[in-house]
Amino acid sequence: MVYKVQPDDDLVPTYGSRAMSQAIPRNSLPDDGVNPRTAYQLIHDELMLDGNARLNLATFVTTWMEPEAERLMAEAFDKNLIDRDEYPQTAEFETRCVNMLARLFNTPEDDDAVGTSTAGSSEAVMLAGMALEWRWRARQEAAGVTASRPNLVLGANVQVVWEKFCRYWNVEPRYIPIRENCYVSTPAQVLERIDNNTIGVVTTLGTTFTGEFDPVEAIHDAVVEDNSRQGRAVPLHVDAASGGFVAPFIHPDLRWDFRLPNVVSINVSGHKYGLVYPGVGWALWRGREYLPDDLVFHVNYLGGDLPTFTLNFSRSANPVVGQYYNFLRLGHSGYTRIMTALNRVATDLSSRIAQLGPFELLSDGSAIPVFAFRLKDSSRYSVYDISRQLRIHGWQVPAYNLPADAGHIDVLRIVVKEGFSRDMADMLMNHLTQAVRMLEDAPPGSPSVGDSGFHHG
Ligand SMILES: *Cc1c(COP(=O)(O)O)cnc(C)c1O
Repeated sequence: MVYKVQPDDDLVPTYGSRAMSQAIPRNSLPDDGVNPRTAYQLIHDELMLDGNARLNLATFVTTWMEPEAERLMAEAFDKNLIDRDEYPQTAEFETRCVNMLARLFNTPEDDDAVGTSTAGSSEAVMLAGMALEWRWRARQEAAGVTASRPNLVLGANVQVVWEKFCRYWNVEPRYIPIRENCYVSTPAQVLERIDNNTIGVVTTLGTTFTGEFDPVEAIHDAVVEDNSRQGRAVPLHVDAASGGFVAPFIHPDLRWDFRLPNVVSINVSGHKYGLVYPGVGWALWRGREYLPDDLVFHVNYLGGDLPTFTLNFSRSANPVVGQYYNFLRLGHSGYTRIMTALNRVATDLSSRIAQLGPFELLSDGSAIPVFAFRLKDSSRYSVYDISRQLRIHGWQVPAYNLPADAGHIDVLRIVVKEGFSRDMADMLMNHLTQAVRMLEDAPPGSPSVGDSGFHHG
C-alpha cells in the first residue's frame, strides 16, 4: 500500500491527522515520516496490547523501579558503557558494583575478585562457561592428554541458556533428570556423570521451574571429595540468576557462594531480584586465576588500555547506573526488607492456594519468592484452562510442563516481585477462586473446558 504523508500542521488535533485514519506502514520503510506527536501516539496505542507488565507474574525480570532511578537511568541512555575513558565515572560505578557483589558473595579476602557487568545472566553464563572450558583445556594439556570431548554436568532443571552454551560451544551436556517430588539435583546423580573430560558442574540457586535451590553445599562437598579421590580438579559454577539477590538477605547462613572453596564463578541477574529494569547481569570469578588471560582482550582505540571480556561491545550504561542506585539507595537492610516482604507475600499466597482444594504445591516460595503448583486432578480441566481464565482479568500466570523425567507434570508458576503487594495477591486469589469455581461448574466438554480452548471473554 502506498502511503503518502502530508506534513501535519501543529494545529491538527491528534486523531484528526491523516495518519490516524489510514493504514500505517508495517513492513517497508515509509517514504516520508509523520510528526513526533502522531508517531508517539500511534506506537503508544499499539503497545497497549502488550498488557500490563505489573500483572505479568510469569517473568522474573523487574517491572517496577523508583521514579528517581528512572530519572537517573534516562539521563544515562546516551552513554556507551564500553567507553570507559569517555565516561570514567560510569566505569567507576561498574567497578563498585562488582566489588560490592564480590563481597556480598563472600569472596575470600586475600583473593582479588574479578567480574564484569553483562547484558544479563545469559551472557554471564557464556563467559563463565568459556572460562571453565579454557581452564579444563589447560589442565588436560598440562597432563599431556587430549582435550577434545569436553562435557558439563548440569540438571535438567537448568535455564535454557545452558543448553545454548553447550550447543554453541560444542560441549556435551550431561543432564541430571528430575522426577516427581524431587525437582533438583542430588550429589550422587552429579558424581555419576563426572569424568576426566568434565569442565565443571553447574548448580542452580533458584530454578526456573519451581524456584527451589539445588543443594549446592552438598553437591560441592561431594565433588571436592570425589576430586581428591580421583585426582581431578572439577570446579563448580553457581547459576544464581535469581537466588543471588535473595539468599544473601533472607538465607544468610546458606552456604552456596565463594565460602565454598571449589565454587569458582557465579552469575546473577541484576534485572531480576537485583531490582533493575531489563539489561544487566553480572559474572564473578573467585580470583584472577579463574579467568584465563587469553579470554580477556585489550583494546586501545577508545583511548587508554581497556580490558574487555564480554560477547557484545556497545551497550547502554543505564542499567549499571540503575544497579548502583539500588545499592546506594537500599543498602543491605533495604534489600533485606524487600526480600522479607516478598517472601511473606509469596509463602502466604502459596499456602492459600494449597488450601483452596484442587491444587498441590511443588514449592512454596520460601527459597526465592517463586512457587509452582499443579492440579491434583486434571481430568475435567487443566492448568492451561486456569491460565487462560486468569488472563481474562489481565494476570499472566504461565502454565507449562516440567523437563525430563517429570514431563508429565503440568504446573502453574507465580513469580512474586517488588511491586506485587499483599493487596494484589488478594485480588489474584479472588480471580483464581472464581476461575476454579467456573471451571468446576462447567459441564465436561463445554467450550470453556479442555484444550480446544477458551477463546471468548
Ligand atoms: C533468568 C535465568 C537465566 C537467564 O538470565 P537472563 O538474565 O534472563 O539472561 C539463567 N539462569 C537462571 C537460573 C535464570 O533464572
